[in-house]
Amino acid sequence: MEKEALQALAEGIKSGNRVALSRAITLAESSLEEHQKAAHQLIQELISQTGNSKRIAITGVPGVGKSTFIESFGKLLTQNGHKVAVLAIDPSSSLSGGSILGDKTRMEDLARNPDAYIRPSATGGHLGGVASRTYEAMLLCEAAGFDVILIETVGVGQSETLVNEMTDIFIFLQIPGAGDELQGIKRGIMEMTDLIFVNKVDDFGLDKAKEVKVTLARSLQFLPQKPSGWKRKVFLGSGLNSKGLAEVWDSVQDYFRTIQSNGYFEKNRKKQEELRIAEYIKELVSNRVRNLYQHNSNETKLMNPYLIAEKWVDENLKN
Ligand code: GDP
Repeated sequence: MEKEALQALAEGIKSGNRVALSRAITLAESSLEEHQKAAHQLIQELISQTGNSKRIAITGVPGVGKSTFIESFGKLLTQNGHKVAVLAIDPSSSLSGGSILGDKTRMEDLARNPDAYIRPSATGGHLGGVASRTYEAMLLCEAAGFDVILIETVGVGQSETLVNEMTDIFIFLQIPGAGDELQGIKRGIMEMTDLIFVNKVDDFGLDKAKEVKVTLARSLQFLPQKPSGWKRKVFLGSGLNSKGLAEVWDSVQDYFRTIQSNGYFEKNRKKQEELRIAEYIKELVSNRVRNLYQHNSNETKLMNPYLIAEKWVDENLKN
């Protein structure tokens, strides 16, 4: 990409032009090396404008009401003067090109809101690669002036770990079940969670929901403390009827005040950046090695593939 075109794109993003933003994210998602290069030059150009958002993970099983919640929550935030970007890490998209989280047709109201920007999840590549693309999209959204980034994922695989590694706060959506509030919820997710939102209270009834809240609050006591010093909290409500969302937002703000004053925010961002660099190294090395090996694959038959790989690494990755 020409230097002037890149500069123009950077200016467009800085001025909040969403066409420019979408173009930049598409560049970052491209598998063409020249697009990747351009995208990363662009991010470098914008790097001083990044990092200033609240990065919020939202997870929960399919059907729990994530997109409905985000639609209402996003509306509340824009009414409060925020600019909200919604991104997704979708494990299904890296497997099949299909999607558990669905596409643009979700969150239609929010999609039309001038203070919101919704980007369907990155596709292609392995899950780690999809996470990197989401991270890049996040930086670009920050540069475009979005001060709240909601990253949605399905709480069923390792995608919630990836999203946890690039956000400041983790919100877990749940619905009351038949007395099995903790079954099927992996302990790992509960450990990551900062706020639990018990959704669809309108449907399950307040009594049932309160029961769930008590059970959850009790079981949370047995989890190790969060390194942020934050005490996990449980909220009741309904994404559909916008019930309980203001309380969640109050708590999110309270959380940020807490971690900004105790130093955890900075520390965690730094740790996340180091992790991201390690991921990029893995990506870059594995891409190069894959390409290189294809040129050197005249190995003898009847050899343990591991030994072929080891020999190759010994010969080629000395330094
Ligand atoms: P996702 O798969 O987690 O994104 O879930 P969706 O937001 O698509 O919601 C799944 C279904 O639950 C849809 O039919 C929604 O209308 C419904 N739903 C979502 N939130 C609520 C709620 O607060 N109350 C009720 N009664 N239904 C809801």
